Amino acid sequence: MRDRPPAHPNQPIVVWFRDDQRLADNPALAHAASSGYPVVCVYVHDPEPRHGRALGAAVRWWLHESLRELDGTLRSLGGGLVLLRGEEQEAILTFVKAIRPVEVCWNRRYSLAQRQTDASIKSALEARAVSVSTFNGHLLREPWKVATRNGEPFQVFGAYWRAARQDICPEPPRPSPDALRFFCVPESARAQAVGLADLKLQPDTPDWAAGLRETWKCGESGAQERLRHFVAQELDGYATNRDAMARDATSKMSPYLRFGNLSVRQIWYAALAAAQAEPLASEHLRKFQDELGWREFSYHLLYHFPPLHQVNFRRQFDAMPWRADKQALRAWQRGRTGYPIVDAGMRQLWRTGWMHNRARMVTASFLVKHLLIDWREGESWFWDTLVDADEANNPAGWQWVAGSGADAAPYFRIFNPVLQGQKFDPQGNYLRHWLPEIHRLPAASIHAPWQAAPDQLAAASVRLGETYPRPIVDHQQARTRALDAFETLRRQHRDR
Ligand code: FAD
Repeated sequence: MRDRPPAHPNQPIVVWFRDDQRLADNPALAHAASSGYPVVCVYVHDPEPRHGRALGAAVRWWLHESLRELDGTLRSLGGGLVLLRGEEQEAILTFVKAIRPVEVCWNRRYSLAQRQTDASIKSALEARAVSVSTFNGHLLREPWKVATRNGEPFQVFGAYWRAARQDICPEPPRPSPDALRFFCVPESARAQAVGLADLKLQPDTPDWAAGLRETWKCGESGAQERLRHFVAQELDGYATNRDAMARDATSKMSPYLRFGNLSVRQIWYAALAAAQAEPLASEHLRKFQDELGWREFSYHLLYHFPPLHQVNFRRQFDAMPWRADKQALRAWQRGRTGYPIVDAGMRQLWRTGWMHNRARMVTASFLVKHLLIDWREGESWFWDTLVDADEANNPAGWQWVAGSGADAAPYFRIFNPVLQGQKFDPQGNYLRHWLPEIHRLPAASIHAPWQAAPDQLAAASVRLGETYPRPIVDHQQARTRALDAFETLRRQHRDR
C-alpha cells in the first residue's frame, strides 16, 4: 500500500451497498456515519458478472423495489443513492477516481466469486491510497469463525449449530444513524451514474410481476412491518404451526434477508425480546432460532465448499443416471404434474415468488426422485423464480433434498406427495387456494383426484386430463425407479 496523504475533512467516505439495503444495523453505514467524513452511498449492478451468478428474474424485481426505497430514505435525509451499472471493479474504480474518497467501506459477501471480486477491489483501492473497511452485516457467525476441534469446517448441521450458537450475538443491533452528512458528488462523477430504470430490473413485456406486487411490501419498511407482525402474532406457536401450509405461520423474512432489508441480528433480537416480554413455550423460540441456524449453516457450506450450486457435495452423486425429460420438467415448472400438493407449491412460487418450506421440500423431492431429473434443473428454476433466491440457501436446500448434500436427507427417503398433503394440509385449503380447478373437491379426495369416484369428480366439475392433469408418473413406479437408480449408484461407489 502506498503512503496515504493526510485526508481532507471534506473528502468523502463511500458506502458500497450490496446485500445490506437498510439503514438500521448496517455496520458499514454506521462506520461511515461516525467517521466524520461526508458520505456517498453507492450501489453497482452488474447484469452479467464474468464470475459468479447473474441474478434471477424475481430477485431483480425485488432489487428494483428495494433500491427505490433505499434511495427514497437516503433522499429524505438529504442525500441519495448513486447507481452504477457494469462490472463491479471497473465501476467502483472509475467512480473513486472521480470523487477521490478517503475510504470505501462495505459489508462482506461469502460466495467464492464475490470474495475474489472484493479482494481484488480492496487491493486496487489500497494501491490508490484509498482505505478499505469491511464488516459483517449478513450473518450471526461468519463461516470461518466456527470450526471443529481440528479446525475443519463442519459438515453436519447438529454439530455445527451446537458450536455456532454458543456465543451468538455479542452485540445487539444498532438503530439507524441519527444523521448523515452527505458529500456533494461533482458533475464529473455524476455522469457515470444511471437512473433506476436504466438498470432494467423490472419485467416489461410481458409484465409477469402482478402477483409479486400484490404479495410483497419490499424494502426496509416492509421488513420491519412483517417482523413486528410475526413476533407479535406467530412466533408463539411457530414450532407447531410452521408446517401447516395453509397458514401464514412463518416469518416470511427470507426475501428481506436476501437483500439485507433487515439483518439477521435484528430478527434474532426481536424474537428474544418478544419471548422475554411475554413468556412463550421455549420450543417456539428455539425452533425459530434453529431455522436461522440452517441459514448460517448454508453460508458455512457456501464458503467452504464452492461451487455449491454446480457440484455435488457428495461426489458419488456425479454418477447419478439423471433423466433428460423436457416435458416432465415443464409440467413441474408450470404446476401441472397431476399431484395437487406439487402443483399448488409450484403455482404459489410462480404467482408470489415464494413457496412454503414444506412445499419446497415436496416439490424438490418430486423433481429429483419421482421424475429423476437433476437437482440443478430445479435449483436454477427456483433461482429464477424465487424472490428470496439465495446463493447459499437455495443450492444447500436442493442438495439436502437430493441426498447429495452435507447432512442431507437420505436418498431412499422418498416423500409420498399424497400423504404429505394429507398430513400438512388436511382440509386441502392450501390446495384449494392455488388450484381453483379442483377447489370443489372434498378434503377426502382433493389430495389424489385420480382416486375420486366419478360422481365426486362430476359434482366438483373436474374432468381429469382436461380441467386438471392426470398424474404424470405413478408414485409406486417412480419410487421403485428412484430406489433402483440409487442402488446402482451405491454399488458403483462401493466397487470403486
Ligand atoms: P421461517 O420458517 O420463518 O424461517 C426464518 C428464516 O430462517 C428464513 O427466512 C430463512 O432465512 C431461514 N431458514 C428457514 N428454513 C431454512 C432452511 N431450510 N435452510 C436455510 N435457511 C432457512 N431459503 C432462502 O432463503 N432462499 C432460497 O433460495 C431457498 N431455497 C430453498 C430450496 C429448497 C429446495 C428448500 C428445501 C429450501 C429452500 N430455502 C431457501 C429454505 C426455506 O425453505 C426458506 O428459507 C423458508 O421457507 C423461507 O420462509 P420464511 O422466511 O417464512 O421461513
